[in-house]
Amino acid sequence: MPEPIVVTLQPLTPLWTGDADQRGNRIRETGILGSLRWWYEALVRGLGLYACDPSSGSCVYDERRKLVSICRACQLFGCTGYSRRFRLAVAGGGSAGQLTEVRILKPGTSNHRGWRIPRNVCAPFTLALHPLRPDALDDFERAAIRHTLHLIEQYGALGAKTSHGQGVVKITGWGTLPAVMETDAWIRAMKARPAKEDTNPQPAPDLSEFIGATITLDAAATSSADWWKLIPLTGLGSFSLGSNPTWVPSGPAVRARLRGWLRNSANFQNFNGNLPNERHRLMGYVPQRGEKGDPKGSDIFVTHLYKADERWSMRIFAFVPRGGNAVDHGVRQLLSDQKRLESEVAIGLGGLNVQAEPYPATVRALLGVGSAISE
Ligand SMILES: [Zn+2]
Repeated sequence: MPEPIVVTLQPLTPLWTGDADQRGNRIRETGILGSLRWWYEALVRGLGLYACDPSSGSCVYDERRKLVSICRACQLFGCTGYSRRFRLAVAGGGSAGQLTEVRILKPGTSNHRGWRIPRNVCAPFTLALHPLRPDALDDFERAAIRHTLHLIEQYGALGAKTSHGQGVVKITGWGTLPAVMETDAWIRAMKARPAKEDTNPQPAPDLSEFIGATITLDAAATSSADWWKLIPLTGLGSFSLGSNPTWVPSGPAVRARLRGWLRNSANFQNFNGNLPNERHRLMGYVPQRGEKGDPKGSDIFVTHLYKADERWSMRIFAFVPRGGNAVDHGVRQLLSDQKRLESEVAIGLGGLNVQAEPYPATVRALLGVGSAISE
């Protein structure tokens, strides 16, 4: 059997891989696998190809039709009748600690329940991907894993509850993954693979609709010892951040500001529909007792502040249709307008000065090639 791929990750904000509130204490393989697959599906769709949505029924392998019967994501991560190409083992990491509540200092609604955030950023850990067949994890599949991890490291987050700030990671050891296949050659190989073709599920993350920015705090904004106390959240004192913190639970503060921005109809002058429905669609929704409807995950993600390479940063990213309605259009404009975004985030953080650097606008550029070439 070929050698396993071993990658080392250092979490920069708490990592959550549990499936229920009290079971996130250690890093769970299933949580990591689900997240890798989610990003890989977004990448496949972003290249104009089909990836099924396992939450609404994945592909079923047909022995006669072989790979044409299943999508490209199932070909790597497995589905009924077709086993995953590798086994994942996690080592190290340790505990995410107790979930600790923070609340908005001045909530717009009195019944807001607050957010529960793991108390600890856990230690570095390794992911070992063991091939399960002699032909598994070939150059194409290694490059697929590498691109997926690169997206997560540079622009996204790993695990669950990523829309609320968890899961920023830095990859400190890539193992044997680098330089297995040139990126454009990999994209060509991806498109040439025999696979099931179909219309992509809706809604589902698609990297061609990905938009976001890296936010960096001004050095002057973090020069005083207690600078983070400006962030308008209660409960931060429970996180034992000390005098030299490496992260600050702050995602909810910026999310609250974005929700407020989505409440303001002046931001969407050409929109005549139901603005609260749009806000729930984009930022997620949990029905309160007595309300109808299914919970909806957020399409907008806001990380906590984290310190890396001596700078304080955070990320805002979203999957919002390019050809969507006036609200989609407005959100895409906000996330690509440096000055407006800086102003909104600064207010959300209690007046801390920030700089915004928009993400690359094409899938190829997100994968690290070219920059001006449109898909
Ligand atoms: Zn599939």
